[in-house]
Amino acid sequence: MSEVRVAELFESIQGESTYSGLPCFFVRLAGCNLNCIYCDTPAATMEGEPMTIDAVVAACRASRAPLIEITGGEPLHQAGFEALAEAICAACDKTVLVETNGTCDISPIPDGAIAIVDVKTPGSGMAGTFDEANMARLRPCDEVKFVLCDRHDYEWAAECVRLHDLASRCAAVLFSPAWGQLDPSQLADWLQADGLLVRLQVQLHRVLNFK
Ligand code: SF4
Repeated sequence: MSEVRVAELFESIQGESTYSGLPCFFVRLAGCNLNCIYCDTPAATMEGEPMTIDAVVAACRASRAPLIEITGGEPLHQAGFEALAEAICAACDKTVLVETNGTCDISPIPDGAIAIVDVKTPGSGMAGTFDEANMARLRPCDEVKFVLCDRHDYEWAAECVRLHDLASRCAAVLFSPAWGQLDPSQLADWLQADGLLVRLQVQLHRVLNFK
């Protein structure tokens, strides 16, 4: 597979990982297998435009950003994902992130890339879609993210972190209040009360009103 369906290629500020705040070149692949209640990504329902992997790699190399993120939609849902990710890692001397909703096997993410795995909570409307086998596939370099809508989501995510020992197995566990739904101060109070070893994160791209 030498082509992928691309929704858009653009430069912005990385907003949801420990790389948050850095300039980032985004490769947003089209289409998603989920339909989250809070989805703000038109790419989720787009057909996108076919693009050769060589052309995408050339755009990544031309960017001055030190970070490249392959995102969606759901990037692992495309047959050309693995070839694309390997080609970007091989051709670009940059940090490569792959943001995924964790419903597909994450094994195709190459060694040279870092997975940002978004575990869907009940508040997303998509709980139960996560491929549980991915918990064992997480590598020490990977990050796990939970977007939280309410207290129930928080307790659900905290239990998931404990059950899978995520705080010691992954590079970071990120708890993000869903934009406009959960007050970050409220989440901070809960985290402090429970002493959970996770990183509170605001959705920086939403604060900045960026893509
Ligand atoms: S996984 Fe992401 S892109 Fe897909 S529907 Fe959910 S929020 Fe939207």
